[in-house]
Amino acid sequence: MTGTAIDIDVVVVGGGPTGLTAAHLCHRVGLSAIVLEQRDGPQRSPAAHAINARTFEIWRQAGVAMGPVLGAALVPAEAGFVHWVTKFGGEVIGTLPFERQGDEMLAVTPTPLRNLSQHRLEPLLLAPELDVRYRHQWVSATETAHGVSVEATGPAGPLHFNAKYLLGADGSTSAVRRSLGIELIGPRSLQSFVMVHLAADFRPLAGPAPGVLYFVVDPASGGVFISHGLDREWVYMHAWDPEKEPVETLTDEHCAELVRAAMADPDVPFEVLTFGTWHMSAQIAERYRTGRTFLVGDAAHRFPPTGGLGLNTGVADVHNLIWKLAAVEAGWLDVAQLDTYEAERKPVAEFNCEQSMLNAFKQIEIPIALGFTSDVEESTVAMHAILADPVGRAGVEEAVANQAIGFDLLGLQLGHSYDGPLVADDGTEAVVLDEPARDYLPSTRPGGRLPHAWLPDGRSTLDLIDGRVPTILVLDGTRFVLGGHLGVVVSCPAGVWDEAFGLDHDQGLVVRPDQHIAYRGPLSGLAATVAQLFTLPATP
Ligand SMILES: Cc1cc2nc3c(=O)[nH]c(=O)nc-3n(C[C@H](O)[C@H](O)[C@H](O)COP(=O)(O)OP(=O)(O)OC[C@H]3O[C@@H](n4cnc5c(N)ncnc54)[C@H](O)[C@@H]3O)c2cc1C
Repeated sequence: MTGTAIDIDVVVVGGGPTGLTAAHLCHRVGLSAIVLEQRDGPQRSPAAHAINARTFEIWRQAGVAMGPVLGAALVPAEAGFVHWVTKFGGEVIGTLPFERQGDEMLAVTPTPLRNLSQHRLEPLLLAPELDVRYRHQWVSATETAHGVSVEATGPAGPLHFNAKYLLGADGSTSAVRRSLGIELIGPRSLQSFVMVHLAADFRPLAGPAPGVLYFVVDPASGGVFISHGLDREWVYMHAWDPEKEPVETLTDEHCAELVRAAMADPDVPFEVLTFGTWHMSAQIAERYRTGRTFLVGDAAHRFPPTGGLGLNTGVADVHNLIWKLAAVEAGWLDVAQLDTYEAERKPVAEFNCEQSMLNAFKQIEIPIALGFTSDVEESTVAMHAILADPVGRAGVEEAVANQAIGFDLLGLQLGHSYDGPLVADDGTEAVVLDEPARDYLPSTRPGGRLPHAWLPDGRSTLDLIDGRVPTILVLDGTRFVLGGHLGVVVSCPAGVWDEAFGLDHDQGLVVRPDQHIAYRGPLSGLAATVAQLFTLPATP
């Protein structure tokens, strides 16, 4: 150990979207936090782009300045579709909407999904009140009797922290996870890709209904173009075999050739800004916690990007965890309840991972419908013949229509529900949905996210929830005294109570700081439930 130790509540390793969200949430609940990030600044290349409704809701509650964040997102009119094309700018063989971005979504969320590039987002997640240290690398940690002793290095030399908790938000190759000997379960490499980051005005290739994704199904040069701004920035992702093309052989010029080969008009100018390689994985950590160290975000799970769920799942992880850490520190949650973090979040990661894999594998239906074989020339001839034949074309259209679930995942965004010791089961059965990944049915059943509805003053019902302590929601005009129990009592207008919540007038809700419902039932039983869920067990 070197230098003076810094006392801190939470050391967050990694300043990606998960780590920065954790820092906001810590600030919100009054935990001191420092983010150690080994890069010299926010990420510069695009990766994630689909930021879902729940993630925006969480940032909204966490105090992120939402104006600039939403202002940096692509407008739905320029990112509302996904197209399958023979070449980028060539024949369109199928089109689907890209998620539900329309104003009708304002009935279920204050903040519908938008496309916002991760490299534009990350700087917007910085804030003066957060302590984010770039060019600082986490080195090691040791659990002590009262916390975690953390070693790091920065430009000025070694640093030492006495932390109460350590968060490994250090991405898919997490050194924190490896230091704990926690294995990832699942396939490490389903497919490898070259990702080429381009500066380009591809509006001329985008067609009359601009999309955010263009899947090029050309047998000789398949890939996907991802819009990060139609007239300025794109990514081209191309399947890559490291055995045949060692990474050292990849150059800017070779990447430019790959891009041109996938374009109908290779003369449309572009510039290769950067390129990189990555492996599509479907892995989940066997454990999310060792003592006072927690894995969050990609450190805990990595999914195929087909579903746009990686970043979004990481943000929801820390939303689930941070209020619990604060509650333990404030003395109203038993430390044993920190196990609910893994118990509640791992099933969500498993579901998201499974759906992302299904989405990835389902795409094979399109080359099959196009008659592709292992031979490029044969496949090209078959594709043109099938597209020229009305029956063949109908088969291709059906294969495209079958992909719809992969681009319509509202159920995964808003519908997950928790059970376990921090949710009081009210004995009702959850409604079984035909397509739970896709469909979302607002419900006040304990475990689910509080339904959003607009209040007469223009706020959302989600804004009624205190981010620090449980919120007790009662009908406007109800006399209810919580006594000495923990929580804030907030009243809700009759219209919302009756229509959005469907509750009786003598019922109440207890809502956790993460906006998930802990109790629904008679007001008479409410205080006792709060005491049971959120009070330390009596010491013998
Ligand atoms: C092509 C592509 C498209 C994607 N599209 C989507 C999408 O549309 N929607 C979506 O939700 N997700 C998407 N994802 C996934 C998303 O990018 C990740 O899930 C997300 O970046 C995870 O965030 P994170 O903060 O957990 O980890 P990361 O973003 O990986 O951040 C981890 C950080 O930890 C830092 N770090 C590592 N080790 C140390 C150390 N020892 N000390 C200090 N710092 C350290 C790293 O430098 C890094 O900045 C996509 C991914 C790819 C590749």
